[in-house]
Amino acid sequence: MNTATNRKSDAAPMLSLDEAVARLIDGARAHAIAEREEVSTFDALHRVLADDVRSALDVPPEDNSEMDGYALRVADVRSEGTVLPVSQRIAAGQVGRPLQPGSAARIFTGAQIPAGADAVVMQELCEAIAPERDGELGSVRVRALPGAGTAIRRRGEDVLRDAVVLRAGTRLTPQAMGMAASVGAATLQVWRRPRVALFSTGDELAMPGEPLKPGAIYNSNRFTLRGLLQAAGCTVVDLGIVPDKLDATRDALRRGAEQADLVLTCGGVSVGEEDHLKPALQAEGRLDLWSVAIKPGKPLAFGTVRRGGGGEALYMGLPGNPVSSTVTFLLAVMPVLRVLAGAPPQGPRPVAMTAGFDWPRPNSRREFLRVRVAADGTLELFPNQSSGVLTSMVWADGLVDNPPSRAIARGDTVRFLPLPLLLQ
Ligand code: AMP
Ligand code: MG
Repeated sequence: MNTATNRKSDAAPMLSLDEAVARLIDGARAHAIAEREEVSTFDALHRVLADDVRSALDVPPEDNSEMDGYALRVADVRSEGTVLPVSQRIAAGQVGRPLQPGSAARIFTGAQIPAGADAVVMQELCEAIAPERDGELGSVRVRALPGAGTAIRRRGEDVLRDAVVLRAGTRLTPQAMGMAASVGAATLQVWRRPRVALFSTGDELAMPGEPLKPGAIYNSNRFTLRGLLQAAGCTVVDLGIVPDKLDATRDALRRGAEQADLVLTCGGVSVGEEDHLKPALQAEGRLDLWSVAIKPGKPLAFGTVRRGGGGEALYMGLPGNPVSSTVTFLLAVMPVLRVLAGAPPQGPRPVAMTAGFDWPRPNSRREFLRVRVAADGTLELFPNQSSGVLTSMVWADGLVDNPPSRAIARGDTVRFLPLPLLLQ
């Protein structure tokens, strides 16, 4: 075959990252998971809500004390140093009696405010006076003039009854689980987790634990991608390493599609003679092979794999270089997973930061540089930005999203993408 013609017909269209992600999201919408599950709020971490969570009650349910101190009527404290008899003692979890006029209630943090009281004076501003007889509560000298409402948490000040506290599509953080619990939700309606079949291609790949033959390397992407998928709340169907053979690749695609919503692969998406994903996908489904104008991570494959019993799974193919596959996962796979999982796609949310480095020879593609936050609050650049150097990803706190051909000088403001935000 004529190599020049071959290369021409195989040339993948060059897309901007934003265009590529918009197309991916469009493709993913039709595959959004429609099966819901009821889970215990205990086990809901990272799950995506299928329904809004509404509060059945006001939170707090009643006015309560913000401090350990004395609940009283402001009108009873005419001057600093007023002495009031203590008429009751109310600990958290107890409900006191209405407050007798002209008296104070000893009260503790979280205890319900007795009817009639309109302020709490913290104990540091009071002086307890011992009772004259056993069994009495003594009195208190109030050393401050409280304003009405002081140190009282108002009923409903956090959440009002019937308010939506968490929206459908929210991915549950620990705080969100606490919120659901605070409004009394014992169980939550969530979408089924996306199932993602993962395989690596490459005859050079060996697994840790195996001896490394000449020419081989350990399969690091299998671990990185599996971990990223788990962190993103997916169930991973791990299909291991697939040899660089057309039949084996086709077989793995079919097995993946039977078991998963998305088949994700790494390596073999270039158009070299040993890159079999393109012909395999063309036989088993449909493929778009893109050249995305980013560095690292140029080749990106997207398509579908037919299932024997009807229907299809989504397919995404990432480049093999460890940094490229990680970066393209964060930038291009995460939005797809969010859509599959029932959450809004949500693009990267950059933070404006100051560069503590120079980048005088920028690439004509949009670059994602591995950086970390230095002690002085500026960003420090990892010295080796090669797409094979996984050390850079371990060292980094995040990526600088640098526009095409833009040189960076120390002191410039740059767009910083913290790794944890990319994984949300
Ligand atoms: P490929 O995209 O298959 O052409 O691979 C590009 C580069 O990434 C080559 O140097 C591969 O050896 C390397 N590579 C491919 N797959 C993996 C993997 N699973 N783990 C680590 N390196 C890989
Ligand atoms: Mg390969």
